Amino acid sequence: MFFNQRINMIKADRDLIIIGSGPAGLSSAQYGARSNLNLVVLEEISLGGQALLISALENYPGISATSLKSGYDFIQDMQKQALNFGAHFIMQGAQSLKKEGDIFIVELGNGKTITSLSVILATGAKHKKLDVIGEEKLFGMGVSYCAVCDGPFFKGEKIFVVGGGDSACDEANLLSRISSHIVMLHRRDTLRAQKALAERVLQNPSIEVRFNTQLKEIRGEEKVTSLILQNSDTGKVYEEEGDAVFVSIGTVPQTNLVPNIPKDENGYIITDQNMATSVPGLFVAGDVRATPFRQVVVACGEGAIAAHSAVEYVNILKCSL
Ligand code: NAP
Repeated sequence: MFFNQRINMIKADRDLIIIGSGPAGLSSAQYGARSNLNLVVLEEISLGGQALLISALENYPGISATSLKSGYDFIQDMQKQALNFGAHFIMQGAQSLKKEGDIFIVELGNGKTITSLSVILATGAKHKKLDVIGEEKLFGMGVSYCAVCDGPFFKGEKIFVVGGGDSACDEANLLSRISSHIVMLHRRDTLRAQKALAERVLQNPSIEVRFNTQLKEIRGEEKVTSLILQNSDTGKVYEEEGDAVFVSIGTVPQTNLVPNIPKDENGYIITDQNMATSVPGLFVAGDVRATPFRQVVVACGEGAIAAHSAVEYVNILKCSL
């Protein structure tokens, strides 16, 4: 009697559901499928996540200057590799995630549900907004969060980049290829970015880095025409003309599927070294996880560990019969 109940308890559509298809999700898919897990990757919009914004993946080990790839090409190759090992993909977002007994139940955007024995959450992080007047109204009309996507619309024009981290430096460097008039606005007096990236910006003649400067308002009707800026040293507020603003001030983790699991003070999910959460069978990898260094290579490594942990968890669950 108990035996039959237990069989029913572990009957699920899949061994593993991976939610998210950035580098972490695709790496999990490849490792999990290669270990013969029956798995599916769920993605709502398009494969790749933030990695799609990378124009040239120059700091991924093994990719030399002569074989540089864009984030898009890298993601395409990762998906091919996962497909070759037997991973499946469904272009549907996960609307909810719950666990009943040993079974995870994921509700899809189309109203259907899928069940599985384990889940890897690789939902990544989304762009943080500045929340200043004009940002929302002029989004798509000069306000952007992606230089690779929207930079070419502003060829030769005056472009502002907001932020002082790796992303802002990457964006400013990329934009300097299409315009020689880039102004980087940073609220502090030093860049937060890795030294190599920061140096490249500071030495780029097309980029003016304006420290201690805060963006207060974005003005324009059908397009961005000027910004209201404030120098935080002197308090001086001034208006400056410009054609576009690329906001690169960090990310917000996508954790709405798991409101009740432990997170750090910034909302990123806490796991152990095996990428395991407080819920047995639920693993987390990539930018949604609390990690000191958000890089494609780190996300891929975490994806591999999460898949390895899911394989062990599923095997133990099946053997416990
Ligand atoms: P980040 O490292 O958190 O930097 C965000 C920057 O935006 C900081 O300089 C911060 O200023 C500024 N900022 C935050 N909120 C602001 C606000 N409300 N107004 C004005 N400025 C604001 O974020 P990120 O650059 O997006 O990078 C995220 C992660 O991805 C990092 O781990 C990074 O290493 C990684 N990444 C790596 C690469 C690469 O290796 N090529 C490229 C992109 C991203 P403060 O400095 O004053 O806090």
